[in-house]
Amino acid sequence: MEDLKQQAITYIPGIGPSRAKTLEAELGIKTWHDLLYTFPYKHIDRSRLYKIKELTTEMPFVQVLGQFLSFEEAGQGRKHHLTGHFWDGEMFLDVTWFQGISFIKKSVKIRKDYILFGRPSVYGGRLCVNHPDLDSPETMTLSKMSMQPYYSTTERMKKAGMTSRTMERFTSSLLSKLTWTLPETLPQYLIEKLHLMPLDKALRAAHYPTTADELAAANMRLKFEELFFIQLVIMSYARKRQQERVGRRFTRIGDAFNTFFHHYLPFPLTEAQKRVIREMHADMSSGHQMNRLLQGDVGSGKTLVALMVMLIAIDNGCQACIMAPTEILAEQHLQTFHNFLKDMPVRVELLTGNVKGKRRKAIEEGLLDGSVNILIGTHAVIEDNVQFRSLGLVIIDEQHRFGVAQRAKLWSKSETSPHVLVMTATPIPRTLAMTVYGDLDVSIIDELPPGRKPVRTMHIYDNQPEQLYRGVIREIEAGHQVYFVFPLVKESEKLDLKNVQDEFIHLQEIFPQYRISMVHGKMKPSEKDVEMQKFVSGETQILVATTVIEVGVNVPNASVMIIQNAERFGLSQLHQLRGRVGRGAEQSYCILVSNYKLSAETRKRLQIMTETNDGFEIAEADLKLRGPGDLEGTQQSGIAFNLRLANLGRDGQLVQLARDTASFVLDADPELQAQDNTLLRRHLQELKKEHRDWSQIS
Ligand code: ADP
Ligand code: MG
Repeated sequence: MEDLKQQAITYIPGIGPSRAKTLEAELGIKTWHDLLYTFPYKHIDRSRLYKIKELTTEMPFVQVLGQFLSFEEAGQGRKHHLTGHFWDGEMFLDVTWFQGISFIKKSVKIRKDYILFGRPSVYGGRLCVNHPDLDSPETMTLSKMSMQPYYSTTERMKKAGMTSRTMERFTSSLLSKLTWTLPETLPQYLIEKLHLMPLDKALRAAHYPTTADELAAANMRLKFEELFFIQLVIMSYARKRQQERVGRRFTRIGDAFNTFFHHYLPFPLTEAQKRVIREMHADMSSGHQMNRLLQGDVGSGKTLVALMVMLIAIDNGCQACIMAPTEILAEQHLQTFHNFLKDMPVRVELLTGNVKGKRRKAIEEGLLDGSVNILIGTHAVIEDNVQFRSLGLVIIDEQHRFGVAQRAKLWSKSETSPHVLVMTATPIPRTLAMTVYGDLDVSIIDELPPGRKPVRTMHIYDNQPEQLYRGVIREIEAGHQVYFVFPLVKESEKLDLKNVQDEFIHLQEIFPQYRISMVHGKMKPSEKDVEMQKFVSGETQILVATTVIEVGVNVPNASVMIIQNAERFGLSQLHQLRGRVGRGAEQSYCILVSNYKLSAETRKRLQIMTETNDGFEIAEADLKLRGPGDLEGTQQSGIAFNLRLANLGRDGQLVQLARDTASFVLDADPELQAQDNTLLRRHLQELKKEHRDWSQIS
């Protein structure tokens, strides 16, 4: 028995130094282990032979046993092709090659049996197969042909003569060299508990299964293992950190919270709001530091929840601070808190770059002597050298770019780490959150306050703007406001600016009777704020914007969101934009305006938007359509890319199983000291060495 990670692939027949180099460069395959873990992306059932008369163009791949009776060559240049007349004893089939003609002429014989394998199509009314695979029935017996693996290859590999078939030869000769039983990586008790296929069998069957069921069981075992070890790493780090981080104990629910709850709360909390507040209170009274992600769709009432947990901090003699990503949002929070708290004796202050001189000094003193209870600010300000007397809770709003390192910086502000709550309206499917935000506990507000009218979403094409403009006029005449959003043109900022400015002028011509604000990414923050403020105050009726308005802006009077070139936006972005309307009591509308020519995927995307308002449903759909690599938050962790088989989008249930299992194992044996867990402990140590960055997952 040899260590597969030490065996170079040059020991496999057919792999010389030059191919080895290509394999390493293209697919990262250096060792037997690497090759073994390079799995086929699909299998095709080759257990059946067809007769030519049975073939239809609906069939994906078929194989036919027969002989070539003759060949003919025709055409010039790019039209040059070779056609063989393939006969199965009853009927003919045209087989055509446009490339590699001289090789085929040399190697393919007339009147010799071949198993032809390819995709049937029709050309000029005749059934044909282009560029089929040909095998001799002598080397390829039906019993061997059950499920044929297909491996990914690259252009460079093909140039070096390595196709999927070549890879197949490599893996099959590797497996035949592995005459011993490959060592298990999971403890027996887990294999039994979860009815998993043993590793040795799973690895072999993942390449060469005999049935589709066997392949499924093998894949399940391998995917599970992949996800399980990730969860084990993340959770063991998270638990360790959790233990080390002593937190202030907020056991009291006192005057501030109770007075607010009984006398000031203008409406009953939703069940979801109550639940997440309870979850956070449990964290904050546990003696450990809270590290929680609060997810809730736009409009689900996160701000109120934030305020109420801050009141708990105040009841326990601490200060709280909330950080918003922009000054506008910070100001909005101030307004909101004043509205909620009215004359309650809670001092709330706002600190932004604009607050200078005496005012700033007064606030800083208030923070130091503890008379400021709640501080609202932007990241920039708070990350600086603001000192608190006793900071007990930090809330980070609408911000998922705020990683572990930055959070750690906040903690350093006081001896005992403050509790941390991160709030986001970007719905991340739970399974992905478990991986991306490994060490954060997740709370979800999955219920909107009652009485909200869901935004009505429509998809229209851009060739009939008149109808759209009539709708705009109707809404504005009814006293509402309207957003026009344009996509960013990534390739050219100049073009981008031009688009928005052109549209601005265009809309001014169409709606001379209304006033229009414009915001775009090229403006200074202060200019942007001025323009936004005009819209917030109702001075302007229309806001023309690039996606800078995506985050958090709250104008309840705005009832229409028009998204131009909607085909260029991703699902989660569309959903975020739509969340800007539907914040008041009126029926709101979201109009997706697109080009006529749409790919199937884009059409699907726009259709999903018109069908559901549920952010989590949309996030799940997005994950399925695009895969996790594109989703926000995953890039930094890189985990999504380390997966060979599992897919965070499609394998949600397995992620959950892996998570539950890791938690079950660590509950019983936190340090993995038990005899039964020796394998896990060793593998975990190895993984932690290989992936140091995983400890940084936020
Ligand atoms: P989010 O920050 O989650 O997008 P907000 O906190 O801004 O949502 O809440 C949206 C609106 O809903 C606010 O006007 C808020 O006052 C209101 N709201 C919050 N909770 C409730 C509730 N339980 N019942 C009714 N309205 C609520
Ligand atoms: Mg909010």
